[in-house]
Amino acid sequence: MHYDIIIVGAGPAGLAFACSLKGSGLQLLIIEKQAQEYIQTPEYDGRDLALTHLSRKTMRELGLWKRIPGKSISFVREARVLDGTSAMSLDFDPPKEGRPLGFMISNHHIRQACYDAVKDLENVTVLYGQSVKDVLASDTQAEVTLEGGDRYTSRLVVAADSRFSETRRKMGISADMFDFAHSAIVCRVEHQQAHNNIAWEMFQYGRTLAILPQHDRQSSVVITVPGNRVDEILGLSPDAFASDLADRFSHRLGEMKLISERHHYPLVAVHAKRFYAQRFCTIGDAAVGMHPVTAHGYNLGLRSQATLAHLILGAHKHRRDIGTVDILRRYETIHMRATRPLYHGTNAIVRLFTDDSLPARALRKGVLRASRMIPPVKWMIQQKLGEMEERPSLLKALPTLRKPLS
Ligand SMILES: Cc1cc2nc3c(=O)[nH]c(=O)nc-3n(C[C@H](O)[C@H](O)[C@H](O)COP(=O)(O)OP(=O)(O)OC[C@H]3O[C@@H](n4cnc5c(N)ncnc54)[C@H](O)[C@@H]3O)c2cc1C
Repeated sequence: MHYDIIIVGAGPAGLAFACSLKGSGLQLLIIEKQAQEYIQTPEYDGRDLALTHLSRKTMRELGLWKRIPGKSISFVREARVLDGTSAMSLDFDPPKEGRPLGFMISNHHIRQACYDAVKDLENVTVLYGQSVKDVLASDTQAEVTLEGGDRYTSRLVVAADSRFSETRRKMGISADMFDFAHSAIVCRVEHQQAHNNIAWEMFQYGRTLAILPQHDRQSSVVITVPGNRVDEILGLSPDAFASDLADRFSHRLGEMKLISERHHYPLVAVHAKRFYAQRFCTIGDAAVGMHPVTAHGYNLGLRSQATLAHLILGAHKHRRDIGTVDILRRYETIHMRATRPLYHGTNAIVRLFTDDSLPARALRKGVLRASRMIPPVKWMIQQKLGEMEERPSLLKALPTLRKPLS
């Protein structure tokens, strides 16, 4: 059968892209390797995503934001970064009075909203439990063969099949990959004291710890540790884990209680060297898979699908072929510009702030102290939670160093 576009992957990027093409008349086929039950009722996976104002705007336009239960959206008013045992913090205050730095939503709520928004779209067909075996492209069309042997053709194939995208590889696109040899352990905790909507990022020796405000007296926890420490930490009893966490956080939020399962993710960052090939392109993590510390992942995923959809809708409106190289090249140029500096900048910050050698410790103390160095560092991290519809200037991002902390 022939479609206008075949999307590989019904994750939050692939489904958001389908939403962006709602009402266009373009016929879409989504191929998803997991069973429908898994996609239609996604379970909590430990990931509470920090989203920017721009992402909220995009999700509103796609009709996704209104599908997230109000109680499941929290916000970040301020963020503080601590290095080791130093009492000095790098603070990110709200850019405008009353305006939060960003929003927190669980990944499973986003995926649920995406599924619900796509399921009744007339121009979308979804095949669940099907994996792509091969992708071929010619001047006029692309052809996708499934593991079961069925074949589908289209004018364009869009890969949204994760940072380890098999279709990207099949189309001969290589990627920069950086294996941090660390894993992120994520979970939810309840605590005695109010968090006041402050997000904390602590670079401790041997691990990093992020505490992100959720509703009431709950926070989301992200611990990054070397891969060989994961089993030991997951093996702690819930009480021992929570008590260790409260100690490491110097009891700023009082006693803690683990209230979810602990999930873990290996940390590998990926940036595709190209975002397109003949009648093929990548979006979401398949284009750029970020280290979570600067929380750009899905924010960039939403941006990638919006950029591509905008170019496709423009071509379609003028009755032009939607899979031509000039459209895909344009997409690549825009998205490369938006992602490449962030990707390399984030990786450099992570390497510096997780390296426990003496020179690295000294350097990062210097980075935190030396005001001439702080604006770019602060700007990078500020992107994490506070990306604005208008980009904040570096001058406005001048930090305040406060000391001491309680
Ligand atoms: C610990 C952690 C914390 C994070 N925190 C943040 C944050 O604070 N803010 C933020 O913006 N982002 C964050 N992220 C990143 C965010 O979760 C990802 O960017 C986002 O989930 C990627 O969505 P995606 O649709 O591109 O890929 P995925 O969610 O990986 O979905 C890919 C889909 O493709 C399917 N698939 C794969 N291969 C095939 C195939 N061959 N055929 C068919 N289907 C296939 C998969 O089954 C899946 O459904 C975090 C990530 C982690 C791990």
